[in-house]
Amino acid sequence: MNTYKLFKAMAATRKRKLTNNTYLVVREDGGFGIKLHDTEVVIHYPNKVIFNSGGWKTVTTKARINEFSCASLTQCKGAWTIDGHPFADGITLYESGYVTGKGAPVKKTATMRKKVNAFAKKYAELLCSGQMDKPSGGDCWCCLMEFGGSDHIKSHIQEKYYVPSLINRVNKDLISPFAGDFIARTMQGMETSNWQRGIAYEQIKRGIQQHCLHELGLPA
Ligand SMILES: [Zn+2]
Repeated sequence: MNTYKLFKAMAATRKRKLTNNTYLVVREDGGFGIKLHDTEVVIHYPNKVIFNSGGWKTVTTKARINEFSCASLTQCKGAWTIDGHPFADGITLYESGYVTGKGAPVKKTATMRKKVNAFAKKYAELLCSGQMDKPSGGDCWCCLMEFGGSDHIKSHIQEKYYVPSLINRVNKDLISPFAGDFIARTMQGMETSNWQRGIAYEQIKRGIQQHCLHELGLPA
């Protein structure tokens, strides 16, 4: 099926909504975008298709790419591949079979993922055992100021630098008020219960892991 023609036909109508949070965008450059939230996750052209996660390699992004293109996006060992090619934002599949903008080899991604998991585990251990300093102005500037980007995160993981203020960057949905209370108490050197520590540990570990993966552009 030629999906370009399909969306071209749709563009001639007034229909734009495709499914939840997903719309057809008629681009000025002749392309047809499939927009999920703020990102055109697929852009169809007559001779090529471009893919983008917008930094959100989520189950939903994956589902939209599979539903609104002929390509097959799969997740294997924590890495995305599209029609068998390692995924990267901007990867372009040409009708001729030519591919540009491939991502890092899957094996490399799997290694990075393992390092992230080890970093997150050690981070949670240090924080929960009260061995971590309070977030301060001496922390990595990027972590402190909430600048995004993958370079500083990559170097923290390589150098095993467990930046105290990194915990403040974690998505608040992943840390319950209960765990948040534990973190505050621990950092102030106050008493905590084993029970509270056990619950907080799991949430900190997962929160740091998810934050690092997102900043590094890896699937959740
Ligand atoms: Zn940093």
